[in-house]
Amino acid sequence: MPEHTMPVSDQVLEFVMNAEGELKDAFMAIEEIEAHNQWKVLSAFQEEGIAQRHFAPTTGYGYDDIGRDALDRVFARAMGAEDALVRPQIANGTQAIYLALAGLLQPGDTLISATGKPYDTLVEAIAGDVTGSLKNMGVSYREIGLPANGTIDMEAVEKEILANPRVKVVFFQRSRGYAWREALSLEELQNAFTRIRALTKDVSIVVDNCYGEFTQTKEPTDIGADLIAGSFIKNPGGGLAPTGGYVAGSTKAVEMAAQRLTVPGIGREVGSYASSYLPFFQGLFIAPHVCAQSLKSAALFARVFENLGMTTMPHSEAARSDIIQALRLPSAEALIAFVQSIQQTAPVDSFVTPEPWAMPGYRDQVIMAAGTFIQGASIELSADAPIKAPYTAYIQGALTYAHGRIGVMLALESLRKNLGVLPE
Ligand SMILES: *Cc1c(COP(=O)(O)O)cnc(C)c1O
Repeated sequence: MPEHTMPVSDQVLEFVMNAEGELKDAFMAIEEIEAHNQWKVLSAFQEEGIAQRHFAPTTGYGYDDIGRDALDRVFARAMGAEDALVRPQIANGTQAIYLALAGLLQPGDTLISATGKPYDTLVEAIAGDVTGSLKNMGVSYREIGLPANGTIDMEAVEKEILANPRVKVVFFQRSRGYAWREALSLEELQNAFTRIRALTKDVSIVVDNCYGEFTQTKEPTDIGADLIAGSFIKNPGGGLAPTGGYVAGSTKAVEMAAQRLTVPGIGREVGSYASSYLPFFQGLFIAPHVCAQSLKSAALFARVFENLGMTTMPHSEAARSDIIQALRLPSAEALIAFVQSIQQTAPVDSFVTPEPWAMPGYRDQVIMAAGTFIQGASIELSADAPIKAPYTAYIQGALTYAHGRIGVMLALESLRKNLGVLPE
């Protein structure tokens, strides 16, 4: 390690550099995926003939917005999908997922989740008593819980489909989200899709792909999902997209989501963007690299914690299907100190000290570190933790591995100083 002026002890430095040295194979595997995905994305740009004119801003209705339409096509290719909608007007990942579901479902239909409770922010949109929720529109909802081993209970899913001809959509959440379980591998998803297709052609498959993009060489759309949806301030925006979300999938399914996006009958034909699509294109182009940086940072966090004797999920050398790393800390104090040290590592708002607070919609107090350029962008180094036993922190992101590694070092230094986790 070259000379530096970081406020960390030699002991911490050595501990982290040793952990890094043990991850050569894991890093090489991540870089191979990055190389594959970089080629995939580059090819998509070239095949669509992307040129300067696609970056020009538009105003008003946005009729014939060539930048918008080209971005859709490039992204569809990158996802192995027929079609896509990438829009700054999609406010977040939750709206993208809602669009996918609301587009495909009609009153009287049934939606089933094959991966248990969906991401917190979706609960109201699906089953809440609020105007415009799926429930409010007459869509029934059933949940098939994820068994303790974290693999999908396909027998229960099949049983539900066979028993109820109104089942029209089966929903999967690829990422662990903020739950102590593994992200679903592409192999497991493929197996589930095959079993559903063998039963019926009448059911659409929708995947919440948040945090999953570019972590593997394939996406759920490559292996037969009808629609995937996600956020552009996570993986696919490469840290540069200022806002937005996407849906991608079959032309028919994307068209249905488009009717929900703006106005039925007008769909995807309108929507301008006066700030230029440049950061969306550029962000998508570097997304494979940024995702690899964040995966390496996650692996290093995991390795350091494992070498301290703590429990991690996934393991530092595991194949990954999302960018989240869960770490178990020994106490509430350790958890809080850890999250605060991540905030201190941030380029933005590093002077802020996050505290646990009672966030609306959460049972336990939570503490969050998010010193990000783009508000709430979790492809940037960030951490979240509910204050409850077993004390689990979820970290994700890092625009550069060097930044992620600084985060690991400052976190370890904080734990060493405040809690003596690193024996002398
Ligand atoms: C981020 C995320 C969402 C959507 O969250 P937004 O904050 O609305 O972007 C949904 N599911 C998962 C698994 C996520 O990680």
